Amino acid sequence: MSTLGYFDRFGGRYVAEILQQPLVELEQAFTEALADPAFLAELVEQQRNFVGRPTPLLYAGNASRELGGPPIYIKLEGMAHTGAHKINNAIGQAMLAKRMGKTRIIAETGAGQHGIATAAACARLGLECVVYMGDTDVRRQQPNVAGMELYGATVVPVHSGAKTLKDAINEAMRDWATHFETTHYLIGSALGPSPFPDIVRTFQSIIGDETKRQMADRGIGGGTLVACVGGGSNAMGFFSTFLDDPSVRLVGVEAGGRGPAIGDHAVRMSGSGAEDGIIHGYKSRFLVDADGQVAPTHSVSAGLDYPGIGPQLAALGERGRVTFTSATDTEALEAVKFFARTEGVMFALESAHAGAAAIRLARQQESDKPIVINMSGRGEKDLFITSPLLRLEEWKEFLESELARIGGAE
Ligand SMILES: *Cc1c(COP(=O)(O)O)cnc(C)c1O
Repeated sequence: MSTLGYFDRFGGRYVAEILQQPLVELEQAFTEALADPAFLAELVEQQRNFVGRPTPLLYAGNASRELGGPPIYIKLEGMAHTGAHKINNAIGQAMLAKRMGKTRIIAETGAGQHGIATAAACARLGLECVVYMGDTDVRRQQPNVAGMELYGATVVPVHSGAKTLKDAINEAMRDWATHFETTHYLIGSALGPSPFPDIVRTFQSIIGDETKRQMADRGIGGGTLVACVGGGSNAMGFFSTFLDDPSVRLVGVEAGGRGPAIGDHAVRMSGSGAEDGIIHGYKSRFLVDADGQVAPTHSVSAGLDYPGIGPQLAALGERGRVTFTSATDTEALEAVKFFARTEGVMFALESAHAGAAAIRLARQQESDKPIVINMSGRGEKDLFITSPLLRLEEWKEFLESELARIGGAE
């Protein structure tokens, strides 16, 4: 656990007075749960038979040969239930909430991946689930809204601000402040007021723990780990096992979007657009506009489209323990195509940012030390985004014929 919730100058617990006590209770309950063998045994059972762990570590031999650099391995986190790493944290926190006697879970979601994972975990554990989602996101992510509702969740559209993720977080915080006696706020990334960054990292650290074992089983070690960074949960879960191992280089990849202008990307650590700020209950680096307001962001991948970054990653970046770089929308799309063609593996657009950076590294260096990519999610969820980018005319025809088929065409 971090000292008083700080990682160097980042982190903390900047919330309204009324939420101080619920956060203290959460921290205590979390510490107790981690010391309870029954809780840990149930967690292992859920990870194994609900989430589908361990996820494989795949040797990408074709890709390695084509790039001519070091051997590349891919941690296939996208094979976890609901298609991404988010379920690791969702099931862990839902179990914790149930142990605390809570009956209701609230969550925020942007594109809907965290909402889907949380709704599935709540269905599994018999908890009521309410997901706050910006109205703009509700409209453009209908398939995920349908998924959440299938799992029994109530999706609440948020109409304030830009009607996207940051507004959904504000609304969830407001709900929690008035209902914390019955309700747990299940935050989806390694950010927010302490102890959330510690809780999320802990439940995600199964990714790094498994990877370390799988590398040892194959007789490989050292090298470079690469993960994409939105809020930082898949990266922290992947990296945390290796933080004290100086033979392992850690690379975080941000969304370079469509260019360097503010509003066109989500580069907080490897660019110059971010400043220290306190938003959503914690201190970190945030993208701001000329007036000092939280800036709009852009990425082809909805999951990397967040103006801040988890406090521990911000600290590790400033210390130089994690190196940050970025990949553009175009590079991410190229990486999706590359690994699909060479390995038969379809990366989520988020994870493809890590894939793109790994391709760049592999072309630059000759080494027998491995590059290990965390494929945080699988790409099937993105077909509505990638299809019009890759084959626009065919996609339009498909949508028109679908509209005709369901009787919607006028
Ligand atoms: C949400 C998401 C991310 C970004 O979130 P982090 O907290 O930075 O991991 C990355 N990849 C996938 C597949 C996601 O769904």
